[in-house]
Amino acid sequence: MRDVNQEPEEETPYECFDCGTIVVTEDKPTACPECGGEIRNRLTPIE
Ligand SMILES: [Zn+2]
Repeated sequence: MRDVNQEPEEETPYECFDCGTIVVTEDKPTACPECGGEIRNRLTPIE
């Protein structure tokens, strides 16, 4: 059996919706360190 649910423990870039600040971290940030805005994972496009 193969485990397809791979979650590489690498630093992931997140981008602030409001000011565009890029935050690279292993842990998912809850808010932008610059403006406190919403952070999204750059590797997961939202449509
Ligand atoms: Zn921001």
